[in-house]
Amino acid sequence: MNRRLRSSLMPIGLAIVGLLVCSSCESHDERVESEKEEFVPSPVEGQTTIITVYDNYQVNPNLTTGWGFGCVINTPQEDILFDTGGDSSILISNMERMDIEPKDIDIVVISHIHGDHVGGLNGFLKRNGDVRVIIPASFPDAIREEITSYQAEYQEAKGPMQICDNVYTTGEMGTSIKEQSLVLNTGEGLVIITGCAHPGVANIARKAQLMLPDRNIYLVMGGFHLSGASDSELRSIIEEFRDIGVRKVAPSHCSGDRCRQLFEEEYGDDYIEGGLGNTITL
Ligand SMILES: [Zn+2]
Ligand SMILES: [Zn+2]
Repeated sequence: MNRRLRSSLMPIGLAIVGLLVCSSCESHDERVESEKEEFVPSPVEGQTTIITVYDNYQVNPNLTTGWGFGCVINTPQEDILFDTGGDSSILISNMERMDIEPKDIDIVVISHIHGDHVGGLNGFLKRNGDVRVIIPASFPDAIREEITSYQAEYQEAKGPMQICDNVYTTGEMGTSIKEQSLVLNTGEGLVIITGCAHPGVANIARKAQLMLPDRNIYLVMGGFHLSGASDSELRSIIEEFRDIGVRKVAPSHCSGDRCRQLFEEEYGDDYIEGGLGNTITL
């Protein structure tokens, strides 16, 4: 394909992607993949901070909400942007209002193809193309071409993989909507960050536990994709979280009000109000 034709196709590809949002609801009980890949984490040195820079739930009233999710993870080595929300101008203005310089980001991880997670990528890369972008292996070529057009690199995640020191991806999970989630090894234990959790948030937590079996799960945060779930479905997810030993939760984005309410009732002081501007230091 010649260069001109290829570049003319990019916006079409991204426009199609932009139409897909997290409204469709997959089954929450997909089985965890049977592969087991274990990692030996490095000793934890220094602090990690997680700042939610894009969310439809608001914690800091000075920021602009939008449907979607994005957070910045400052580790002792690398600064990571996990998901980009749906609109890069909202993403970048929120980052700047929280004194996060887009140019400081080293690695971008995109959880899944929906526009409310990948929609801000293009505008972000315009500000900072000097990044490695980790995408699910199933992503269409239009996104790879978009990334390289800004001189950024991409790396495909199929199975579980280490991203940098003490940061891992679950790799693609799920069937119809393939999604990767982030797993951080911190001094407090594992932190799992989900974009939308289409493959099932408890399945993702179990997978993270298989990857790092010697570490406890300290926190699960992000979109839990439970806004349409019944009370009994929500209660069984909460029970699974207790079985797995998840110590704290911060559901936001597509988790739903009722999900947040029931988790808060169950977790009490260990419930963290997730949403835009929420900052967690570990
Ligand atoms: Zn979403
Ligand atoms: Zn989604």
